[in-house]
Amino acid sequence: MTEQLKTETYTQPIPMKNSDNAAYWDAADQHMLTLQKCTDCGKYAQPPGPACCHCGSQNVTWEEQGTDIVGEIYSYVISYRPFLPGYTMEDMPLVIAVVKLEKQNITIIGNVLHCKPDDVAIGKMVKMIWVDMNEERAIPQWELV
Ligand SMILES: [Zn+2]
Repeated sequence: MTEQLKTETYTQPIPMKNSDNAAYWDAADQHMLTLQKCTDCGKYAQPPGPACCHCGSQNVTWEEQGTDIVGEIYSYVISYRPFLPGYTMEDMPLVIAVVKLEKQNITIIGNVLHCKPDDVAIGKMVKMIWVDMNEERAIPQWELV
């Protein structure tokens, strides 16, 4: 599912690309998940960095994960007041979750949208959805399965 938002309606911070995460965000802009993977130890890293966070190797590459991404809520918090610029009380309560991707053995933080906070629980399954922040940029978020 893709959530289309008009550019002028997206007021929340847009993550900046840098040399470590550009491949991640370039894929996200195309509504695809790509993850950094170490070619020496074979482990994935999220967030990406200049070297493998597991073994320190600089032999890292990127691996496309596709568009059908499902994970399990590992932990979450519910925000009842906006802490970041661009968020308003209309965005609250906001469910911010750490979601574990079993196969890749990584976690990705995102908001669980389109749900009541009482419906969220550790262990529940969520699927990745994409929110278009503007015409060029998109961000992965989550929705209960
Ligand atoms: Zn490694």
